[in-house]
Amino acid sequence: MELIVARNRADLVKARGEGRVALVPTMGALHEGHRALIREARELAPRVVVSIFVNPLQFGPAEDFSRYPRTLEADLDVCRAEGVRAVFTPQAAEMYPPGRQVSVSSGHMGTIVEGAVRPGHFDGVLTVVLKLFNLVRPDVAVFGQKDAQQLAMIRRMVADLDLPIEIAGIPTVREPDGLALSSRNRYLSPDERHTALALSRALFAAETLAAETGAPESGAAGAGPARIKAAARAELDGADLALDYLVLVDPATFAEVGESYTGEAILAVAAKVGGTRLIDNVVLRLS
Ligand code: AMP
Repeated sequence: MELIVARNRADLVKARGEGRVALVPTMGALHEGHRALIREARELAPRVVVSIFVNPLQFGPAEDFSRYPRTLEADLDVCRAEGVRAVFTPQAAEMYPPGRQVSVSSGHMGTIVEGAVRPGHFDGVLTVVLKLFNLVRPDVAVFGQKDAQQLAMIRRMVADLDLPIEIAGIPTVREPDGLALSSRNRYLSPDERHTALALSRALFAAETLAAETGAPESGAAGAGPARIKAAARAELDGADLALDYLVLVDPATFAEVGESYTGEAILAVAAKVGGTRLIDNVVLRLS
């Protein structure tokens, strides 16, 4: 079936039709990570809608909204190749007509970790995601673990606002050398890309330590948060990047875990490499 490109609400309603739909919200500049989301969506519903919208609400005044990559024709080719039913690609005025007053508040969770560095970011994310949910009316929506706090906040919104939508998460897709795929990777010079590898190396070092020390056959207590973070920090020391944070947090709340914490935790990192801000994370089990 031919891909439908909907640029306004009326076209979207027609394109959606009735029946079960999976939504994949994106900001475009689609890469293998987005393809993995679309493939998961196709497993979950017979019809997939991809939204492509660079949401001004989630960018701070000093951030890269105006230079964020916009590659619509190539993105449509990706969607065609992946069997997407419809792409919703509205202009900002379609999403935010004049007179707008009401938006979603992301609460305390929106002010910590990534939210502390990007004030207002999660309010902007949740507002656009709720609007996309209302416009597309998906049965299920698919998000990447790459943006772990975003995924946790969307689950929170669905629970707190009783949204009748199932949320699916997929693991982070990486380059063979470990770099997490991101639309922003295209900003990196070859040297910066090399520097950026310190982020995934740091996360993997921590992952290895947690897995080795936490293995039941080791008979020893697992490495605690302090040792795990130190293992990651050792990989970042000396790298030519400006670290925003390296935190070990509860996956549901993004509160930092204490030394006695056991169970799943997320080690999340954010740094600027040259002019490009990158984030990454891994899920660990502390025992
Ligand atoms: P973006 O276009 O960057 O706003 O991302 C759209 C969706 O793709 C979000 O749910 C992201 O978490 C997800 N995503 C981005 N990069 C990756 C990746 N490397 N692996 C898996 N999902 C990703």
